[in-house]
Amino acid sequence: MRYCSEQIAFQEVPGEVSLAYTITGCPVGCKGCHSVDSWPAHSGVELTPEYFTKRLQQYRGLITCVLFLGGEWYPEQLLHLLKLAREQGLETCLYTGYEQVLPALREQLTYLKTGPWIAELGGLDSPNTNQKFIDLRNQQLLNVRFLSTD
Ligand code: SF4
Repeated sequence: MRYCSEQIAFQEVPGEVSLAYTITGCPVGCKGCHSVDSWPAHSGVELTPEYFTKRLQQYRGLITCVLFLGGEWYPEQLLHLLKLAREQGLETCLYTGYEQVLPALREQLTYLKTGPWIAELGGLDSPNTNQKFIDLRNQQLLNVRFLSTD
């Protein structure tokens, strides 16, 4: 499993400070995808458990969550990293372009964003979006937290 971006994200998971990884090799193929550069699976850098654990230690006390933007197409590797994050007491989130993910992955997730990008419907900040952001602890739909209050 490889990543092309590692950053601290304040908006993507409401109420959390997230260490976010964009995983390469997305097979969904949404028209108008903003991350076409990340589609080739060989692009980016290997996200090893050793490196990931080191980053969690470096960010201890500064982050509350780990966010994976994709990676469900490598379920065993993703599962392993999610468990490592949980062991550190962190919340976990996955942004997937699919409507559902494997139950084993859901079990290790606090939050899940589902659904492909459909330009005419917009993303989570659109009231018409097809995408769903769910708190899996209570199945609560949190889309309202992304809507602009302007
Ligand atoms: S799921 Fe996300 S990364 Fe994958 S093609 Fe769709 S918009 Fe792009």
